[in-house]
Amino acid sequence: MNPSASRTPDSELSQFRVKGEIPVPALINGLTAAAVPLLLFFSWRSSQHDDSFTAPLLVTFSVLLAVNAIAFLFSGHKTVQRRVFITLITALFTYLATQAVEDGSAIIWLFAYPPIIFYISEARVGVLTCLGGWLAVLLLFSPLGDLLFESPYSGTFRLTMIIVLAFEMATCYILDQSRRRSKLGLIKLAKEFEYAAKHDALTGLANRREGLEQLEAESQRYLRNGRPFSVLLMDIDLFKTVNDTYGHQVGDDMIVLVSQTLTAQSRKVDTIARWGGEEFLVLLPETVTAHAMASAERIRQAVASQTVDANSKPIGATISVGVATIQGTESIDRLLQRADEALYQAKSEGRNRTCQAVTG
Ligand code: GH3
Ligand code: MG
Ligand code: MG
Repeated sequence: MNPSASRTPDSELSQFRVKGEIPVPALINGLTAAAVPLLLFFSWRSSQHDDSFTAPLLVTFSVLLAVNAIAFLFSGHKTVQRRVFITLITALFTYLATQAVEDGSAIIWLFAYPPIIFYISEARVGVLTCLGGWLAVLLLFSPLGDLLFESPYSGTFRLTMIIVLAFEMATCYILDQSRRRSKLGLIKLAKEFEYAAKHDALTGLANRREGLEQLEAESQRYLRNGRPFSVLLMDIDLFKTVNDTYGHQVGDDMIVLVSQTLTAQSRKVDTIARWGGEEFLVLLPETVTAHAMASAERIRQAVASQTVDANSKPIGATISVGVATIQGTESIDRLLQRADEALYQAKSEGRNRTCQAVTG
């Protein structure tokens, strides 16, 4: 799959961590660790002012936040941890604002809300929560709010608070968008690098290194479940002549044609690798020799039936194939050596044919 074709939706961003970025659960735990003593401190201050309701409520919030953090440490459930945290701080900030705690100064804590929300949630959730919070403050500061709550806030304070909060929320949104875009860019780059490291640029097939990794993985599976796999080692016949006669571009076209035919003729589970210049390796998982030979023949015939355009003249390509099936506890090197010997035999017997490797 080409990396440029793969999309990374916003919600998937959280699955990738850029170096140096604080993971959301760790940030929530850190904020909880800071909030608990602060809440207990303000609870103590409230009790000094004979505020018999606020003091126990702040203790309750600190206990609930602590329980959420501890529950996460045991369960590891990130989504629950995040949702409970957002619910608790939203409720806490609403209480601080509406009840004018600390002579009305606690409403200033609302400024801590937007950056936290944007960092720990998706952009959409951040926008909706901040917008909701801002409208709630607007309502609180309106004549309706005065009817519902006893408010110590002056007109000037209300105006400044509403404007500065909107300004802060907009700034947080812009910074968060830029952070997300940078992160998406890094993820895209990382995917492209990973793709380039595993694939051949001309054909898009797996490269030799990736082919060897798949062979290693298949060999481990074989050792576990005993189901043999096979390899087809292929080489385009008299390819040098094509290059010499029609030029390098026609040679490249022929390599691409063969790679497309291999892809069309193989199963999804097979790995097709460009093994060298005009050599290919097909790894057939859980395939015995008879079936591997049939596949090789099918591929060979399909390649032989195709042509590439060389200066408006169709020219055909043929391949020779060596087929080897893993046996006993032999190494991958030994398997490849047997496939190579079978390919050499196909070449020496006249090319455009399939040969089975010797066993033992
Ligand atoms: P045989 O049937 O014995 O395999 O003969 P051959 O001519 O195919 O074998 P040989 O190994 O002599 O030639 C392989 C040629 O493939 C030599 C090299 O220049 C060419 N080649 C390797 N990689 C590429 C490539 O990416 N593009 C093109 N056009 N040619 C390539
Ligand atoms: Mg060759
Ligand atoms: Mg060749």
